[in-house]
Amino acid sequence: MTQPSQLLANLEKQLRVRGDAVAVSGQSGTLSFRELSEQSSRIARRLMKDAGGTAGQRIGVLAPADLAWATAFVGILRSGAVVVPLSPLHPPAEQHRISQTARLDRLLVASELADPDSALQCELRVDGIEEMLALDSGAAWDGKGPQRPPNVTASSGAVMLFTSGTTGQPKGVQLSHGNLWALVDGLRTAWEFSEDDRLLHSLPLHHLHGIAVAFMVCLWSGGSTKFLRRFQSQALFSEFAEATVWMAVPAQHQTLLDAAETASKTERQRWAADARTLRLVTSGSAALSSKMGARVAELFGQYPLERYGMTEVGIVLSNPHEESQRQAGSCGRPVGGAEIRIVDEQGIDVAEGESGEIWIRGPSVFAAYFDAPEATAKGFAGSWFRSGDTAKFRADGYVQILGRTSVDIIKSAGYKLSALEIEAVLKEHPAVREISVVGVPDEKWGEVVVAAVVPAATDSVELSVDSLASFAKDELARYKLPRRLVQVEELPKNALGKVMKTVLRAEIEARLLRTAERKSAEPGSDV
Ligand code: AMP
Repeated sequence: MTQPSQLLANLEKQLRVRGDAVAVSGQSGTLSFRELSEQSSRIARRLMKDAGGTAGQRIGVLAPADLAWATAFVGILRSGAVVVPLSPLHPPAEQHRISQTARLDRLLVASELADPDSALQCELRVDGIEEMLALDSGAAWDGKGPQRPPNVTASSGAVMLFTSGTTGQPKGVQLSHGNLWALVDGLRTAWEFSEDDRLLHSLPLHHLHGIAVAFMVCLWSGGSTKFLRRFQSQALFSEFAEATVWMAVPAQHQTLLDAAETASKTERQRWAADARTLRLVTSGSAALSSKMGARVAELFGQYPLERYGMTEVGIVLSNPHEESQRQAGSCGRPVGGAEIRIVDEQGIDVAEGESGEIWIRGPSVFAAYFDAPEATAKGFAGSWFRSGDTAKFRADGYVQILGRTSVDIIKSAGYKLSALEIEAVLKEHPAVREISVVGVPDEKWGEVVVAAVVPAATDSVELSVDSLASFAKDELARYKLPRRLVQVEELPKNALGKVMKTVLRAEIEARLLRTAERKSAEPGSDV
């Protein structure tokens, strides 16, 4: 593909034509499209000024969900480099792992997080990261570089995100300008986005959902995005009246439903009245139960539009925008030019109604994991990406997602977690002899992380959920920490000594059920 980037051309067009309309707002104020254009252009020109330019460079951004993040994101894209979002939610060790795996060339840090003595920034200097620039420090952005990046085409890298893929340690997924254009253009059409839209944004900004599905779709439609730094029910409810669209993961829907249920009658009525003014409410990143969907419908006056996708492929299935055609328990039909197959273990298409693995092909599908040819080879069957999710076609042509094929991938709170990554950190805990990590179903979180541990012979260190969490907190993001601990005498293993995780998970589920029946156990308690 050598055609010029339509993603960039369309971004430039919105920045030009939307002038004084609000593009982004957040805790630190508001930026019009004109201001976003000027400020991001200063960043782009500053980045391009250096000898060698930015082509192929990977530039990290570390900033809270606010104006500086949006300006840096747009600025890096306009420079022709690849944006690598780092999350302030991650401990420095995890940020550093991502920076190393992505082989960052530079890092832009929001002034409020910039600290030359921070663990991350010291590590990066040791790695020889060429330059760390504090966002918002006007002097750094003298804007004297070239106006436009040379030769950004549909196949140039645009954004690199990290995901656990279908197995193993998190890998870099480099999405090209063409991939993201297919996603953005497909969704803004399918979901009828326009410049009148006002998106209320409460999703993390190191994930496809928050970055591309929410922020980019809205910006590239000429709409405005309001960032909330933190997910907080009261704050969200008080913003709904001003918004037209809200996108969420099921755990966020559940939190709002719980808040509405415990609010006073007057407050609940006011919240529901505001929530009902939204034109579009969506759900994705994890399965939405029909029961939760119905409760959301009661509060928001519409059944949430559920869609399905992955970091590697973008959004490839969506329920229709037309509310009466949304089907509970299904993710709808292909969007954005995606093709879908559902196949058996031999890669042969199964009949309608039969379950199999979902395979995906189309313009939003990535080309390769970064620096990981073996994982890439395993991920594809010819031109088809093997999702690792089990699904079936219904008679009406809609697709129903039934769950993941691999037990080593846990989907919790909309995040895709690698059991192997969590095990690698926790097996070093002094009270752990052996450990195996699995996800068990949970109404709110989709799945919760459970650690099954064979204790080490020691009395000096306590073995508990809290001690595992405090041991791992510098290495793993909070949402990866186990919520439950199950102590076992031994782990079920096959003849080759490999833990049989499906057996283990079934045993844990049965044990949790028995405990719940006995004393309705709270998350966080040991069993
Ligand atoms: P990620 O790459 O982190 O976005 O995670 C992608 C994974 O999330 C998919 O492979 C699915 O397992 C899961 N997922 C995304 N959307 C849905 C959905 N609507 N229903 C069920 N699972 C979903």
